[in-house]
Amino acid sequence: MLTSVAGKSVVVTGASKGIGKGIARVFAKNGAKVLVVSRHLDEAEAAADELRRMGCTAKGHAADVTDMGSMQVMADAAATAHGGIDVLCANAGIFPQAKIEDLSAEEWDFVMGTNLKGTFLSIKACLPHLKKTGEGRIVITSSITGPVTGFPGWTHYGATKAGQLGFMRTACIELAKYGITVNAVLPGNILTEGLIALGEEYQKSMAASVPLKKLGTVEDIGYAALFLASKEAGYITGQTIIVDGGQILPESLDALAQA
Ligand code: NAP
Repeated sequence: MLTSVAGKSVVVTGASKGIGKGIARVFAKNGAKVLVVSRHLDEAEAAADELRRMGCTAKGHAADVTDMGSMQVMADAAATAHGGIDVLCANAGIFPQAKIEDLSAEEWDFVMGTNLKGTFLSIKACLPHLKKTGEGRIVITSSITGPVTGFPGWTHYGATKAGQLGFMRTACIELAKYGITVNAVLPGNILTEGLIALGEEYQKSMAASVPLKKLGTVEDIGYAALFLASKEAGYITGQTIIVDGGQILPESLDALAQA
């Protein structure tokens, strides 16, 4: 069991629901002090309150990853509330679908601004605090979509998720001198509130293309992030962990059928 995040200060962006909420829960249950961040304070605070009711240390905070000033206030709030920042999970992201012919320049910029620039801004804002620890950890939530696979309607989204990895591979070199590691988790299809709302039939059809025949849970991503943030993972930087139940591996439908 990885226990080294106990007592650490962790910032999770996009933590009011979905994968970020799962990441926050896994860290909090392992003894970390978590700042739960989303644009809506009531939702961030509700998620933090769930953690407090489980006996964990957590605080809700409203911030927008597209805004540098907002990120700086977030970083200072985490440092003030929890005595610094040891770990940043840059997780906030959006995935509106639009095929190239329907995709506007404005929507392209919005997705870039949130997923890619938002990753940069959250890291830049937390950096002065992460540097102080001498062993800071940054865990980026990317995706299999973009770095490995494609899906119609997600050219912009896929570009941001692949872009996060390009960013990471230089960031890890720049930040190594401070003892900071930068890694990424690449989720496959994860059972978030959004996917649950699409109904069981839809979930079943998605699970059919996964060798493990089930969708991932938000905790599955949380545990991968927990590992990358642990002391035990201190010599791993600039790397990715795919958490997808084997989804990217079958080379054809037949490969699944014959298994
Ligand atoms: P989600 O359930 O829609 O949750 C997104 C979270 O991000 C919410 O807390 C949302 O709260 C917050 N958020 C959105 N825009 C923000 C902004 N500008 N500033 C701050 N917070 C913001 O999404 P999810 O499915 O968990 O996805 C989370 C991450 O996982 C994303 O980076 C996504 O690309 C990645 N991912 C997801 C899957 C999947 O199967 N779900 C698969 C691969 C990768 P507010 O709206 O209140 O701000």
